[in-house]
Order: sequence, then structure tokens, then C-alpha cells
Amino acid sequence: MTTTPARFEDQPPAQVPALPATVLGYPRIGPNREIKKALEAHWRGGDVAALREAIHAHRSRTLGHLAGLGLEADSAIPADGAVIDQVLDASVLLGLVPRRFREAGFSAASPDTGEGLALVSALARGTSTVEPLELTKWFDTNYHYYVPEIEPDVAFSAQTDAVAERYRTFRDLAAETAGGSLPRPTLLGPVSFLLLAKAVGAESQAPDGTAGDGGTVPQASRFDRLDELVTAYSTLLRALHDAGAAWVQLEEPALASDGWDVPREQIVTGLRTAYTAFAGLTARPALFVPVSYGTAGDDALAALGAAGVEAVGLDLERGALPAKEGLAPLAGRTVAAGVVGGLNVWRTDVARAAGLLDQLRERHEGPVTVSSSTSLLHVPHDAARETQLDPQVAGWLAFADQKVGEVLALAGHLTAGPDALEGLRADDASRRRLRERHPQVRVEAVRRRLDEVLPEDRRRAAAEHRRAAQEAALDLPPLPTTTIGSFPQTSEIRRVRAAHRRGALDQQGYEEAIRGQIADCIRRQEDLGLDVLVHGEAERNDMVQYFAENLEGFITTTHGWVQSYGSRCLRPPILFGDVHRPAPITVEWTRYAASLTRRPVKGMLTGPVTILAWSFVRDDQPLAATADQIALALRDEVEDLQAAGTRIIQVDEPALRELLPLQVAHRPEYLRWSVESFRLATSAAKPDTQLHTHLCYSEFETVIDAIDALDADVTTLEASRSGFEVVTALAEHGFSRGIGPGVWDIHSPRVPGVDELIERLRLAAEVLDPQIAWSNPDCGLKTRGWEETEASLRHLVNATAVVRAEL
Ligand code: GLN
Ligand code: ZN
Repeated sequence: MTTTPARFEDQPPAQVPALPATVLGYPRIGPNREIKKALEAHWRGGDVAALREAIHAHRSRTLGHLAGLGLEADSAIPADGAVIDQVLDASVLLGLVPRRFREAGFSAASPDTGEGLALVSALARGTSTVEPLELTKWFDTNYHYYVPEIEPDVAFSAQTDAVAERYRTFRDLAAETAGGSLPRPTLLGPVSFLLLAKAVGAESQAPDGTAGDGGTVPQASRFDRLDELVTAYSTLLRALHDAGAAWVQLEEPALASDGWDVPREQIVTGLRTAYTAFAGLTARPALFVPVSYGTAGDDALAALGAAGVEAVGLDLERGALPAKEGLAPLAGRTVAAGVVGGLNVWRTDVARAAGLLDQLRERHEGPVTVSSSTSLLHVPHDAARETQLDPQVAGWLAFADQKVGEVLALAGHLTAGPDALEGLRADDASRRRLRERHPQVRVEAVRRRLDEVLPEDRRRAAAEHRRAAQEAALDLPPLPTTTIGSFPQTSEIRRVRAAHRRGALDQQGYEEAIRGQIADCIRRQEDLGLDVLVHGEAERNDMVQYFAENLEGFITTTHGWVQSYGSRCLRPPILFGDVHRPAPITVEWTRYAASLTRRPVKGMLTGPVTILAWSFVRDDQPLAATADQIALALRDEVEDLQAAGTRIIQVDEPALRELLPLQVAHRPEYLRWSVESFRLATSAAKPDTQLHTHLCYSEFETVIDAIDALDADVTTLEASRSGFEVVTALAEHGFSRGIGPGVWDIHSPRVPGVDELIERLRLAAEVLDPQIAWSNPDCGLKTRGWEETEASLRHLVNATAVVRAEL
């Protein structure tokens, strides 16, 4: 495998076909979750042949379907070959198999073969002896990708046959189902691949694989591997060309973020070097480089222009339209305007989109085409299937299929002129007027109440005063033991909820069944000897959906599944109107739980930011305003819980960090309103009501100021997966209110030993003040079974007793 050396003169392929209007990607789980089901059947032990068949059928169906929706031109249909994740797919296509997998007998393979699917499955899920790749959030979305691991001794080995074979398969399928148009292969680009990856292993490794004397590889060193990666990508590009691909989509979403650990200048120089090398290849497809999830940055556009790529894609949903000077380096190239948003579920504002296209045409010297702003993998398949919704509200929605239609309609504006959009524009305008006036979209009482919020509605009494009041009211031992809220969601619980939903179990029967679960949960916690109990959340399918179903302003869909990670899919609620609480939600369950015990029972709510982050949110007002509406609804619940005698109330904000803007400059403003919103929700708590919050799923080191500013009396957080580092960070910060760093990882069924729990609790009591430390797991226990849950909690109570005695 030799590479043509990079050439700096610009030499595009002899004839570059036009890049037609397109979408950057399409949901990969299947309209009826066919791929999810096929993956899970395989993972339960089913034959890999059945999985391969399902993948083949899905590809064929998607090609035909997209052509049927009007993506008929050559290169209009994105051919995303990834079965579960585009980053994992790129890892496998680059032949990246971490050492522990090689030692377990895996080797590089085409991800489309049985062997390759076994590798993909093992990397994503681990095996009985090998830990899987880490899973992490994909930009500021609810999608999660598998983090590539770059070890110092691993060489990239581009799976050229695999990409060529895959492309030929797509092309043949397109010949059968999509009128023979050429699909456009998609691949994560090398710069984003490296930035999203992590460097692992020791600098020099001893032959047995243990660390040599070199120490751990610095994370930023992964970017030093760019040259090698460019060589690998070059061979993939040549293979795609030989297989007949006219265009290739190399996605570089990482350019929209400036929060990387590698200096921006180095990233942009790397970008320029990489794409100059690709553009210099003599036999290659035309290069289309979309930058999604924000503004690409003029520096990146200049680098791509200088390198000689044929097309660049701009995200005009999240990102800004560059000025004339910013676009100048792209003169002569195609710009794909991502005016149809891939992250929301609303019909595109046609007038706004057309205006952006006109502005772009004015500023850019070269062809303009239309695209989605991101892959459509973040939205469900088809809004037309939501027949249970208020038809008026349903008419405002655009899922993937509707977005394809919008892209094509807006492309008509470019080719046929403004008249092409006349009808659409008028429909859209009248729909928007109706939407503004819809009685659930604008609820005057909600707006008035928000207008009347005063700064003091977001403040509680001084922390020391609260502490004294709570000590007197609660009388807890040092290192109080508690859990995060949910207890095992047994099949019995799920059956009860499903029967109730279907109507097979009436309200009375349902409430009796849930009360039975609560009673059982309280009895077990008393037997274990925990200090602060919870009701167990048996009535909740999901911590956000439950509140969405009980608040006004949300709708829930029937088929609106989107991929979260792997085979896991979610149906996010859609927040479309002004939010308010028609009636108390959790009060009766909490009151019932409290009636069964003399120990305190924590009330359990989900915070405003987390509800926002895990829903599709209205696009007609600032997020901060929507967050405050949710906050006021939750504030009512806090007041009612308190009135019902609840002494401890927890408001979970696990997603606090998830909405953190990718652009560093926007972060302070986000943290300001998100914290203020949490405080609006919670500051109805009286001084002697102990307010807890819970955070998880992320590194908190960067947002400790914000966590402190939440002003909760007790903060429990995930700590065990990150080696308990957050504890030191909190201590250094001088955190003075209650802290419960999770002492065991609830994501695995492993029961932690008493000794390891003692060790962690000692550390917490030592590093933090023993007066403020709590003893609790990392997160809720709903995914665990009762057996390991009870064993683990028994160890927790015993370990706590030991450490308490030492204080
Ligand atoms: N109270 C919730 C639970 O225990 C919190 C879940 C979460 O943090 N994701 O399930
Ligand atoms: Zn959690």
C-alpha cells in the first residue's frame, strides 16, 4: 500500500459532477426498529446470517425509499454503512483493534462480514473477559459514540476491500431499488476521528503488554498520528474511486467545537495537510466535507478551500452563515447549505431558509446546493405515522422523511426561482400563525407568572442557617446512607405499567400494584438499615418521559424512536407548548411511602435542564424561557411535597453538562440560565427542607462552579468510573455543603466488596469534610436485579458503619 505523496497544486478529478441536494445521513435503526431487533436477536445468540440479512434488507429498503422521496440524482443518497455507530465503523474500517481484543483472538475484518460483525459487537459490548470501548456523548446531542482507542504500538490498516465491497453492494442495490442512481459513501473524516478518539496505553510497553517505564501516553498525542491516518484514508479513497464512487462525504463535525485539548491552530493546520493530501490523489472521488453541530469557523473554511476539496457543507441550523470574506477561499467550490435542521422535529421555516439561501448565493462565488444541517439520525423516521396526535400539532412536525422533502423543495427555490416556493411559503406562514395562537402553545397564565418572577424567587436562606435547621429536623448520623432514587425495575413492574397503558388494568388496580411495589421497596430498605429512603420510582418508565406525560405542553409519540447508542433507542417527548402542571405528580406516591416508615423518605423529581436535554424542544422561544416554565411547574411540586410533610427533596440534573455549548464563549451564559432555572425550581424549599441534587454521566471538573451555584444542600454524583477524581476536585474547590460521591458503579452487576467501599468512604471522609460526606451508589438502581442490589447495599451499610466508628 503506497500513497501518492501530497501535492500542493489543486487538481480536482477531471470532471466533477454536481453535488445535488441531499441529506447528510438517515436513521439507521429502521422504521420499525428492524436493525435494533436484529442486533439484539443476534446478541441473544441468534445466527449472524439473520443479522446480515436484516442489514442487507435495510440498506435496500432505505435506498429505494430515499429515491422514492425524490433523492434520485446521482450522489444524492448518503450510503451510511455503519450498522450501529459511524465512529465505531470508521475504527473498524481503519483496522483499529485494541490490544486487549487482539489478545482475545479478534483481528481486523470487514464490518460487513460475520467476522467483522463479531468484532463490532465485541468492541461495543465487550466479552466476558474484555471491557468494551468507552461510550460517550456525541457533541451536544443525545447520541453516543464508541470512543476509538489509539495505542502507541497499533498501526492503522485500512480495510480497502471492505469499503470497495460495501460500495459495490450499495451500488448494486441502488440499481435494483433506486433507479440506478449512484449512492454517496459517507465516512467520518480523519481530523474528527482523532479528536474524538483517546490515546491509551503506556508510552513504551513491555513485551507482556504491561506498562513499560514510559508512563501513560498524553491524550493530546493522539493528534500526532494524523500523518499515518491520512495515508490510511488515502487508500480508502482510492478504493472508493475504483469501486465507482463519484463523491465521498468526509464528515468533520469536530471543527464546530473549540473546546478541544489540541490547540485550534494545530487542528486547522492538520486539516489543511490532510485534505491537501486527499485532493492531490490522482484517482479519487470528489470530496464533500460537511461540518455539523455549529459554525465551521473561517479558519477551517480557508483550510478546506486551500486544500482543494470540491464541496463544503455548512450547518445553518446551529451555525452562522459566514461573511463574504469567510467564503472567499471556497470560490469555485460547491457550498451545501444545511438549512434543514437535523436536530429538531419542526417543519423548516421556509421563508428563513430561502432567505439564507439567497444570502449565501450573494456572498459565495460558486455553486450552492441544499442539505440537512446534520445527519438525520437524530430524528425519527416519519411524522406521518403519528396518527394519534392532535392533527394540528402533528402538522408542525418534520421527521426524517419530511425533512428530505423540505431539502428538495428548497433546492427548487435555487433552480426554479422564488416562485417554486410560493405555495409552500404561504402554507408555512399560515401554519406558523396558527401555531402562535394555539391555546397550548401560548398560555397567558404561564407567561404572566414568569414575568412576575423576582430575583429572590431564585434564592434560598443562607446555607449555614439551612444546615442548622436541617440538622435539628432530620437528626441524621454522620455519613448518612442513601440511594439515588430508582430500585430494580422488575418484569413485574413493567408488566403492571404496560397493562395499565393498554387499559387492561384499571386505575385502581394499577395504583394498588404500584403501592405494593413501594411497600416492598420500603421494607427492603428498612431491613438493610439505610438512613434516607426513597419510594423506588416503580411508576416511572423513564425519568423525563414520566414528567412529560404529567405536564401540559408536551406530546409523546408512538413511533418516534431515535437511536441513543448501540441498539438502544429512545422516544423523546416533544415539548411544543407552554409548560405547566395541571395537578400534583409525585406527591401521593411519596406520601404513601413516608407513611410506611419512621425514617425520612426523599421526594424525587427531574430537573428542568434534564427535561429539556432529553426532549425535542420548541424552536419559537429561547431555551432559557422554556427551562423557566418547567422550573415553575416543578416548583409547584416542591411546594406540594413539602406541604405533604416531605423533609428531603431531590431534583436530579444528570444532564446539566450535556447542553454545555460546543463554543467555549457561549458556556458562561448557558451555565448562568441553567443554574438560575434549577434554583427557580428548588428555592421554594424552606430552610429545614433538605434539597438534594444528583449528577452523572460526565466529567464535572469543568462545571464545579455551576454545581456549587445550584446551592443544593446535598449533591450526589457519579464518581467511581472516573477513579474518584471528582472528590479531590470538589475538595480543592472548597465545596462546603453535603456531597455524596458514588462509591460503586451501578452500571455493572458486580457486587462491590466491603473493603473497597471502606476505602472509598475513608477517602471521601478524609479528602472532604466528614461532616459533609454522604454514602451512596453512583446512580439509580433501576437496571439492576434485586439480588445484587441488596448485596451491594448491605456492603455499603456495613462499610459505612466501619468508617463512622473511625470518625
Ligand atoms: N433518580 C433517578 C434514578 O435513580 C436518577 C437517574 C439518573 O441520574 N440518570 O433512576
Ligand atoms: Zn445518575
